[in-house]
Amino acid sequence: MLRALGAKNHPATVTSIRWITDHMVRIDFQCDGILHQAGEKPSAWIRAWFPDLTHPSKMHQRGYTLLDADPAAGTFGLAFLVHDPAGPASTWARSAEVGDELLMTRLGGDGHDVATAEDSPRGYLLMGDVASWPAFTTLIDAIPVGVPVRVVIEHSNDDDRVLPLPTRDGLVVDWVRSTPDRRALVDAIDAADDYRGWHTWVTAESKATRLAKKRLAQEHAQSKSTMHTQAYWMAGRAMGRTAEPESQRV
Ligand SMILES: Cc1cc2nc3c(=O)[nH]c(=O)nc-3n(C[C@H](O)[C@H](O)[C@H](O)COP(=O)(O)OP(=O)(O)OC[C@H]3O[C@@H](n4cnc5c(N)ncnc54)[C@H](O)[C@@H]3O)c2cc1C
Repeated sequence: MLRALGAKNHPATVTSIRWITDHMVRIDFQCDGILHQAGEKPSAWIRAWFPDLTHPSKMHQRGYTLLDADPAAGTFGLAFLVHDPAGPASTWARSAEVGDELLMTRLGGDGHDVATAEDSPRGYLLMGDVASWPAFTTLIDAIPVGVPVRVVIEHSNDDDRVLPLPTRDGLVVDWVRSTPDRRALVDAIDAADDYRGWHTWVTAESKATRLAKKRLAQEHAQSKSTMHTQAYWMAGRAMGRTAEPESQRV
């Protein structure tokens, strides 16, 4: 079964579960062989396989961000947004129990280096929704103190706003309400703002990411070398590979 799923898969065992809000659950794992022994960069992520909701032999691959990775111990956490409509990953997370197992793999997802204080850009703009909250915590922790950071998080639930972020001088956090037209993030880029010379990061729903990316490129001189963008999910659609290991057996 492992080989049929492709790449190298590692069994990961749930060691603890803690609900951070009514919609975000942190699940800790022990897994040998998945973490980079030299350490994990901010925003590094893994891919895990989750059973289909109606055909458990079918597996779906989804991406989740590593938290508190300890390569020597093979331990780390993942924080799952339990969204509605749900999918295989959020459904699994909602009812996970200590001792449960998931298969995980790496293919890219090595995370991002953050410049030292001497080489820092004028500031960092991090834009995303609650699925990006884990990545933002790791990035904020890595950015040298004193460099301005603005975080804009699009959210749907009232209690999303209590998700903790590192506290530090120069950090501005704006929570913006999600809107059906997916414009909450792009509309948070004010005409008076000037992000030239900043590094920017946009990881959100697909359309929201596209809209913010376009404005940052057109009006704030952001380019591939200064901006990281990635759709973390797609409204109304599942995102990620699917495999049917059973049917691939010979
Ligand atoms: C690099 C990377 C890192 C990520 N890290 C994290 C992380 O640390 N924590 C985390 O919670 N998510 C993270 N995500 C997002 C997560 O992989 C997706 O949300 C994923 O699609 C959820 O899978 P699912 O099986 O629950 O839902 P799917 O089967 O993909 O989708 C089912 C339904 O749920 C909707 N949906 C999917 N995701 C969301 C969402 N985030 N909000 C609202 N509705 C949604 C879809 O539009 C669809 O209608 C990351 C994604 C990437 C690419």
